[in-house]
Order: sequence, then structure tokens, then C-alpha cells
Amino acid sequence: MTLTGRVSTLLLFLLVGCLALGPLLVAPLPPEEMRGELARATATTSPTLLPCPTRVPSPTPLPTATATPLPTPTPTATPVAVPVHVLRTYPIDGDTDILPAAPLRIVFDQPMDPDPAALGLTITPALPAQVEWPAHDAVAIHTPELRPGTEYRLTLVRARGRSGGALEQPLTLTFGQGGKGAPLPILMYHHVRTLAPDAPAGPREWTVSPEAFVAQLDLLHALGAHVVPLSEVVDYLSRGEPLPARPVAITFDDGNRDVLAAAVPVLKARHLPATFFIPPQYAESGNPEFVTWDDVKALAAAGFALGGHSYQHAYVQDLTPAQAEHQIGDEKRKLEALTGARVECFAYPFGTYSRKTIEQLQHYGYRAAVTISQHVHQNPGDLFRLGRIRVGYDDPLERLRQKLPWKE
Ligand SMILES: [Zn+2]
Repeated sequence: MTLTGRVSTLLLFLLVGCLALGPLLVAPLPPEEMRGELARATATTSPTLLPCPTRVPSPTPLPTATATPLPTPTPTATPVAVPVHVLRTYPIDGDTDILPAAPLRIVFDQPMDPDPAALGLTITPALPAQVEWPAHDAVAIHTPELRPGTEYRLTLVRARGRSGGALEQPLTLTFGQGGKGAPLPILMYHHVRTLAPDAPAGPREWTVSPEAFVAQLDLLHALGAHVVPLSEVVDYLSRGEPLPARPVAITFDDGNRDVLAAAVPVLKARHLPATFFIPPQYAESGNPEFVTWDDVKALAAAGFALGGHSYQHAYVQDLTPAQAEHQIGDEKRKLEALTGARVECFAYPFGTYSRKTIEQLQHYGYRAAVTISQHVHQNPGDLFRLGRIRVGYDDPLERLRQKLPWKE
């Protein structure tokens, strides 16, 4: 038997032994030739990942231990090396305005080998980097402040999982500071329904057909985009929380009823998150064009997020304190009481706002707000001026592709 075979067999024996007798035993030390290996693998991690977990012995051990017979180890018992994938990063590729104080972070899909030799990572132009593993599946890279206007490139060509699996696809991220921001599109929808051929220009501007909506989601998928909750966009921009590659958020304004039939089932079937900005007055109006409170509760129960849009869909750029208390404060409290979920993002009705509006939103505990300004690069300093893109009823699918920040 080879040394590797012997070690694997021994490991299996120890593991099975522990599973069978674990509650009564403290794990025996691994044999001498394995200790160096284990010590290295767990140098910066919790001891619970040792092949044979140490358990606290019961204060009153049972008088007899009935161990189940050990199965005969077979050659197929060698641990399987699971290929490693990157799930999320900070920054995302192309972010030219990253937070000065946040470390670069890479989140993997499995526990990783923290051995520095297992990580093939470079940053150019060179930066002195300090690497730490705040979690088994995530590495953080602390760097000194970046030079504004310089494009940096992080390349990860090698990483090893605890299973021995290797990084399947190399990762490249370009990033910088002081540039135009993170490529983070937020899609804005109002109506999703079929219009009559002679429908006027207004509705054509704020409506997409159910077929176009599906085609747009298909396009995002084909481009490798990942639909994320709007709150994760805010966490990324404000705290440097990692996001998956090519993140995009989806939003719906006004609580139009057609969206329940034409968009919500599609989102549910694809497990895609979205945020709904619904003025309470619309939901309370009894107008069949709008969702009801029961619909709003069902949306929240299904995992969709709610956002503020003012109580009465008001112009909010110059509210008195009393008006703000109703339009912003009452609305936020109402939505939160109704669903039990926090409401943290606001959409400016008609897209109008002022410095005063932003201060009022902050006063009532909002973390961010979206506009109707059609830009896809978002800045950490502009959390209350996030851009959103939309396409009209007569726009071809290509129009959306042109507005998205990814070339291929
Ligand atoms: Zn609106």
C-alpha cells in the first residue's frame, strides 16, 4: 500500500471511529506523519475542522459503549477533490471608486486551505498586501491606500479547497479609486402588460410587455449577470460587502396590479429578488389598477423587498417637517408594521428630490434612494442618488443591452 493510501485509510478509520464513538471519546492525536500537515491546514482556523473533532466528554459517561462494526475501507474512499469557484468579490470587476478603508475580499464556494502557498494571487501595480482568512471560505486582502486614478488589477490563478480541489476558473478584477464608480445597473419597471396598438406615448414610455420582460431577464442571464437584492447593492457601496460578478438589481414603482400577473410569477420561478416601491395611498385606494395591502403582504411574505415612495406619491423636493412626517415617516412605519421587514430604500416619486429631501430620508432611517437618472455606475458617496435604467415599450431588446455596462 502506498503512503497516501495508508494515510487515507487511516483517516477514514479515524473518522468512522469518531462518528461511532465520538460522544464518549476525546479524539486521539493523529499519527506523527500527519501532525505537521494538520497543524499547517488549521493554523488560522477553528479546530472543529480536524478530521476527528474533539468533543467535550459527557460528565456521566455511559457504563458501556456499543460501537457499531467498522465497514471495510475500500479504495474508493479517497476524499474527492471538489473544484473551487469564486462566489462573490469586493470589489466587483471594473469598480473604479472603491471604499478606501474596506479590504479586498474573495468568497469561495467551500472551506479553503489557508496555506499561503496554496493561493496564487497578484496585484499590479504591486501593492504590499496582508492576507487573512476571516472565514473558512473567504479571504480578505488588506492594502494601503490606492493611488487615485490608477487602474489596479487583481489576479487569482490558484487557490486550494480543504478537499484538495483547485480553482476552476482564474479570477481577474480591475479596480481603482476616485473614478466613475461600480458598474451596478438597477432596472426600473412600472407596468408590465400588453398595450393596445394605438396606446399613447406616456404609457408606452413606462410599460414593457410581458414577453419583453421575460426576454430582458433572459438577456441578463445570457450575459452572466446575477440579480441581487437592492439592499446588497447598498451593503456593497456602503460597507464593501462582496457581490457576485455582474450584479444587477430589479425594482418596480407604484404597485401597479399588472405586475402581479406578468412579472411576479416569472421572478418567483427564477428565484430572482426585486424591490417594490408602493405608496400606501395607492394600496388603500380600492382602485383595481393597484395592488391591495393583502397583495403587499404576500409580496413581502414571498421574500420581495418593499421600499418607500412617499405616502401619496408626492413631490418630495420641498416638504415641510409636518409633510415629511406623513409622506416619509408614516409611510415607512406603515410598510414596516405591515410586513415586519425593514424598509431601507426610497424611490423619489417623479424622480424629483433636493438636498433637503436626502436629509429628511436620513432622519427617518433610510440608507439609500434611487432616482430615474439613467446611469449604471454607482458611487459610495451617492447612496441617495443611485441611477436606474429603463426601456420603453417600443425599444428593441438591444436597447437594454446597450445600457448595460458589460460588453459581451
Ligand atoms: Zn412612482
